This record gives sequence, structure tokens and C-alpha cells, in this order.
Amino acid sequence: MRAVVITGVESVEVANVEDPGLRHPEDAILQVERMAICGSDLHPYRGEWGDPTGQRPGHEVIGTIVEVGAGVRTRKVGERVLMSGAIGCGACSLCGMGLVSRCSDFSVLGIPMLGTYPGGQAEYVTVPRADGTLWPIPEGVSAERALLLTDVLSTGWQGARRAGVTEGQSVAIVGFGPVGMCAAVSSRALGAWDVLVVDPLPSRRAFAEELGFAAFDPGVSEAIESVRERSSGGVDAAIEAAGRNASMETAIAATHARGTISVISAPSEALSDELPSRLATTQRMLMTTASPQRAWPQLFPRLGEPAFREIDRIFSHRLCLDDAADAYQLFSSRPDECRKVQLDP
Ligand SMILES: [Zn+2]
Ligand SMILES: [Zn+2]
Repeated sequence: MRAVVITGVESVEVANVEDPGLRHPEDAILQVERMAICGSDLHPYRGEWGDPTGQRPGHEVIGTIVEVGAGVRTRKVGERVLMSGAIGCGACSLCGMGLVSRCSDFSVLGIPMLGTYPGGQAEYVTVPRADGTLWPIPEGVSAERALLLTDVLSTGWQGARRAGVTEGQSVAIVGFGPVGMCAAVSSRALGAWDVLVVDPLPSRRAFAEELGFAAFDPGVSEAIESVRERSSGGVDAAIEAAGRNASMETAIAATHARGTISVISAPSEALSDELPSRLATTQRMLMTTASPQRAWPQLFPRLGEPAFREIDRIFSHRLCLDDAADAYQLFSSRPDECRKVQLDP
């Protein structure tokens, strides 16, 4: 079968690799219908997590089950499913609560430091712990939405929930990449009266405004002051989705003293040693690695709400698996024109 293989720093190709097999009785094999490239796929692509040569990325996948192991109890061949970007043991109390990212056996497909299964940017993928990792795609949910639910929408939703966003609050979204976009939409769905976006890229601010959010450029000296003014002294919650020291500082500065900061980014640089001591005397900060399985039952019934109407627009590009090299290059180096890429096998 064909699969994306990283051949060096900032270099991927689509290669013929061995067909996937069942490694364990609880595995299932999916024929991939569509896949997405995630911001976290860019860390290995850019060589930020060691030499990536030979790695096979991809954890945002939907498809049809073509084979199940003898230990799979609930999933069946022929079901059209979405896969969770986060995989747990499926048996412990944390997995039972949907908190798979806290499971001691937590893994993510295609990220070698978090497991040994190759990723799903391929024609087929072996999925471990199929019962807890795969879920039938409900009737009426588009492929784009199902793909977003595998990770970024679930992450954005949990980031907003964990920030305690409720009716009438003001919320700042710091970093308007795909996860920040999903956090903004989720905050609105949870009843926030004002959602303010802070991002240095003009195209992202323009997109935020198109979606009805006020947008601010952190490079402008009075930006944070404007955010604080607009929210009468600081927002109730900030959702940090950029993973940089500067964005952490922005989140702290934008939020009032009783507010909450919810960090949902994967840090893309070493965070300052001063951060914990600063936070001891400022707002409370919560960090999240999402567990999509926990978000799905909350999100499925709400996807028809007006807040989610334009969520599919997060995908700015749709390419073929064979064009993966272009897709990676575009997503990595032209964030001003590329919001998120989906791939057809
Ligand atoms: Zn992802
Ligand atoms: Zn577990």
C-alpha cells in the first residue's frame, strides 16, 4: 500500500510499504477514507523531536473497518468510523471515564515517542484497542467534521470546557491555528458573549473576523490593553493554543486575576523556567492533552448548533495522498494561506 514516509528533515514522500496486519487481538484495520495533517505532525517533520527519518505520521483519520482481531467486541467490519488521535489501554478507570490521555498506556499513532504503531497517512492503517479508539460516524456528520473530531475540535472543545467557559463570559483565544479556531467556535457554543482572537498572522485575523470574532495583533503594543479594555479589565478565560512563551505571556496579560488560562498547545519551544513561579501569584492555569473519546458524546449532539455552522472551513486545502510532499510543505511554510490540509487516499 501507499503511505507517507518522512525521509529527512522537511522531507516526506509517498512510498510503497508493507500492508498493515493485526498485531494484537484488539486491533482493527481501517481502509482510510480521508486523513488530515495536524500541527503536531509538523514537529517530527521539522526535526524538532529528533531525527524523523523513516517515521510514518498521521493520527487524524476516518475510514471503514476491513478487519478486526478476535479480541474486538463492539466494532464490526464494514462500519464507517472516526479514529481518536489519543489511544489508551481501554481497560483502566481513566479510559472508562474517557480520560485516555491520562492512561499510563497512552499512545498516539505515528508519534514514535508515544507508541510503536505507524501513522495513518496511508491507504490502510492498523488501529490498536479498536473498541476504545474507533467510533461510528453519526448520520449527517460530514467527513470534514469527523476528521476535526479525531483531534483538533475535540481538543479545542476540551480546552474551552476546562477553561470553565460559560454563558456571558469573555474569552481570549491566543493562537488561531486549527485548534485555536476550534476553541473559539467551542467557546461560542458554550455561551461566551465575546470571543477575542489574538494572532500575529493577518490572514488568520481576517478569518477570525469572517467567523465573527474580534481579532488583535499581538505585535501592536496596545493590543493587550485593547483586549483588557474591551473585556472590562481582562477576559474571564484565555485559551492558549500557540505553545510559545510569548503566547503564554499574552494569555496571562489578557486575563483578569480571577480568570482561568487553559493551555491546549503542544509547546513548540522550551517554556520559560519563570512560568510556574509567575503563575503562583496570577491566574490559575490548566494544561490539557485532549481525550477525544470524552468529547465525542458531548459534541455529537451539538454539531448542528449555529456556533458550529462554519467549522468545516478550517480546512483550506484538499489534496491527494500522492501530493503529501506538497501538502506538508504548504502547511509548514505558508501558514498565511494554509489553515489545515485534508488528504484523499
Ligand atoms: Zn492532531
Ligand atoms: Zn487506560
